[in-house]
Amino acid sequence: MRTGIMGGTFNPPHYGHLYAAEHVRDALGLDKVLFIPTNLPPHKKMPAGSANTEQRCEMVQRMLKGRSWAELNTIEIDRGGASYTVDTLRALKKAGKYGDLFLIMGTDMLMMLDYGWRDPEEICRLCTLAVVARELGQQKDLQQKAQQLREKYQADIRLVDCPVVEISSTQIRQGESLIEMLPPSVYQYIEQNRLYTHEKENF
Ligand code: ATP
Ligand code: MG
Repeated sequence: MRTGIMGGTFNPPHYGHLYAAEHVRDALGLDKVLFIPTNLPPHKKMPAGSANTEQRCEMVQRMLKGRSWAELNTIEIDRGGASYTVDTLRALKKAGKYGDLFLIMGTDMLMMLDYGWRDPEEICRLCTLAVVARELGQQKDLQQKAQQLREKYQADIRLVDCPVVEISSTQIRQGESLIEMLPPSVYQYIEQNRLYTHEKENF
């Protein structure tokens, strides 16, 4: 059993998250990918006007509908407080039913792993890191960083070649070409609930 973990604030979820997860799943033969929304992200503040926890989960569920290889997992929300990946990995290991764990992440997260994250060495012991580029031209930086982390922590890092999808939730909150960046069901939910409509300059 091989389980992928796609963590994020998903504020909102978008095709960048979905395609990264899908490509890693295909490339590494994962049985399942868990999409795990953070409760409180330790690295950043949720901007004013963000979707709430329930809304973020609903949007993830909508995005994953019909994709039997992917599922929402609320372990971080259920745990409450600041969401540390190391705690999530420990809990998933302890649960005993997920097999080998593959933590999926974009370039930005790999770059800060050894100085922004809690217990990076333990993270590297508990899982394989599956990394995709977020922008064109990041391959060299990624390779260098991966090599450094392999030497520092004996990390198992796979750089997965995946078409670059230059989308961020920040752009969507700021109102940029929303419709091309998200599944229609998520777009509709944002419209119906008037999410991200006010004070765009706050984002
Ligand atoms: P925000 O702009 O609010 O930071 P985001 O788009 O960066 O949102 P996050 O929830 O912060 O999304 O990211 C969750 C994970 O998904 C991170 O590992 C991040 O690197 C990865 N990710 C986000 N967008 C993409 C993308 N377009 N391509 C590949 N990976 C991505
Ligand atoms: Mg981000």
